[in-house]
Amino acid sequence: HRGWIEVVAGSMFSGKTEELIRRLNRAKIARQRVEIFKPALDTRYHEHDVVSHNATSIRSTPVQLPEEILLLASGCDVVGIDEAQFFDHSLVDVCNQLANQGTRVIVAGLDMDYTGKPFGPMPALMAVAEFVTKVNAVCVCCGEVAAYSFRIAASEAQVLLGETDSYEARCRPCFQAGMQEK
Ligand code: ADP
Ligand code: MG
Repeated sequence: HRGWIEVVAGSMFSGKTEELIRRLNRAKIARQRVEIFKPALDTRYHEHDVVSHNATSIRSTPVQLPEEILLLASGCDVVGIDEAQFFDHSLVDVCNQLANQGTRVIVAGLDMDYTGKPFGPMPALMAVAEFVTKVNAVCVCCGEVAAYSFRIAASEAQVLLGETDSYEARCRPCFQAGMQEK
């Protein structure tokens, strides 16, 4: 078996989870053994489901640390990881180990935080991946291609779980305009 790493990166509402679910469902159709993991802190929806903003879902296992994925993923053909930006840097080693063992690893996550800075282990994952797909949302201000997650809420914490009440997808000019108003 040959393993590799695929990364699906982009802003909020760009369809990362949708794309992850699509790839995993196709692997399931091919009768491959599939497991999905997400960081335990992401509890916006149901505890055990990876849920997309378009409301499709797939069962997942919440884990505290990337190392737990190594133990739980033994015997899997394909491992999906959602919201990867919330894990620490050890996720890079874990993904490499899985791929080296012959596992297909599909990682989805935010490439930038709400200030436009690279988010957690995502840049390193994009560097070591064989395949990187960048997906985009639609700017809520002007309808152009949106690569940024603009925070409407006042908090300055890097991690603020939320939905359309706290964030909106914006293109570069509309993101910059919004940051200057803050
Ligand atoms: P992600 O995991 O990247 O946050 P999801 O897969 O959860 O994205 O959700 C993508 C879906 O979000 C789209 O199919 C669409 O229905 C919805 N959506 C809501 N707001 C937007 C927006 N501004 N641009 C694009 N899609 C949006
Ligand atoms: Mg998502």
